[in-house]
Amino acid sequence: MYDITIVGAGPAGATLARLLGNEYKILLLDRRRLDIPLDSFNGAGIEKCCGGLIAPDAQNMLARMGLGVPREVLVGPQLFTVRTIDIQNKMERYYQRHYINIDREKFDRWLFSMIPSHVDTLCGVSFKTFEERSDSLRLKYKLNDKTYEADTKYLIGADGASSIIRRRYFPNNQIQKYISIQEWFKTNKRIAYYSAIFDSEITDFYSWTIPKEDYLILGSALLPNDNPNERFELLKQKLKGYDFDIGECVKRNGAYILRPDRTKHIFLGNGRVALIGEAAGWISPTSAEGLSYAFRSATALAHSMKASPQNIIEHYYNKTKSLRLNILSKNLKAPFMYNKNIRRNVLQSGLLSMDIYK
Ligand SMILES: Cc1cc2nc3c(=O)[nH]c(=O)nc-3n(C[C@H](O)[C@H](O)[C@H](O)COP(=O)(O)OP(=O)(O)OC[C@H]3O[C@@H](n4cnc5c(N)ncnc54)[C@H](O)[C@@H]3O)c2cc1C
Repeated sequence: MYDITIVGAGPAGATLARLLGNEYKILLLDRRRLDIPLDSFNGAGIEKCCGGLIAPDAQNMLARMGLGVPREVLVGPQLFTVRTIDIQNKMERYYQRHYINIDREKFDRWLFSMIPSHVDTLCGVSFKTFEERSDSLRLKYKLNDKTYEADTKYLIGADGASSIIRRRYFPNNQIQKYISIQEWFKTNKRIAYYSAIFDSEITDFYSWTIPKEDYLILGSALLPNDNPNERFELLKQKLKGYDFDIGECVKRNGAYILRPDRTKHIFLGNGRVALIGEAAGWISPTSAEGLSYAFRSATALAHSMKASPQNIIEHYYNKTKSLRLNILSKNLKAPFMYNKNIRRNVLQSGLLSMDIYK
């Protein structure tokens, strides 16, 4: 019998596994082969689709956790600028912001490598379901087409935006969900900014470009029931009028992304089950930055499990009050980014923007 089983070894799950002490018997499951080197297998199709930018809030959390990002995880260029492109209002501004540009797959592997040896890790396995028993939970997971069972006192869903565990409690999935598509293009251009692109004809959320060494990523968070592939093609057409190298796509991937437009859609768990990271709905509703929320929710839950084993969820709820307020305040600020007329006024004012000398 395990004390704690964590499903998902992304930033949230790997952080929780690292922080829980060796007084617990812990099992960590992930369908990704994070336990073997990337170049030792054909990892196609399983890498996490992500922009790979560590924003200031996530940098702050890494600092608080006493971590510095190793050189192998970094990719060029490091970015200090956001180019805001408002296609509909035909306006642009540059803003200073400091990002750390990373290879997301390597970042996750680095977090995974810090999990202490007292945690049992199982990679390449797919968590399927669980049933509640009187004093424990019985889990089912699949490995090489064979189903296995394990018993655990607590189950932690760190299984991301498509969380099976969250769906069990929220079958109707009230939280706003987007499908994000990212395409990679080879480029010779030196691009020194991350761009945030707004156009409600494409999406009511936003699109982006991010340079990664010799590539430019073009991504967009699109409404799943609103012809996302066609909208993405339209975005590419519209960007032809801008100075991006959007030619032949060399890689395309996609993933769901959540947008908690109401704090009540953040679900922390129930009884013996708790959720952290994006599985709980912890992600910025304005920028889709999720790493800081993964770290903050994982550290909060690790603390609650130690400090209040009898009332974990209640303690975790109290411990994440400021995180909920953070999401509430982002939702209150959202119209300044997402309402076309208010955004035009903001961009026109030039407030906090800077000139770029080309
Ligand atoms: C296109 C895109 C771009 C993004 N760009 C950024 C960015 O630049 N910066 C930023 O801060 N955030 C970004 N985000 C958000 C960020 O990626 C997530 O919020 C963050 O990864 C959440 O971490 P997590 O650990 O909660 O979940 P995840 O990183 O999604 O990890 C979940 C883990 O659970 C595993 N898993 C899932 N289901 C199962 C199962 N049934 N069985 C076994 N294992 C399972 C997965 O393999 C995965 O390893 C982006 C998201 C998307 C989709």
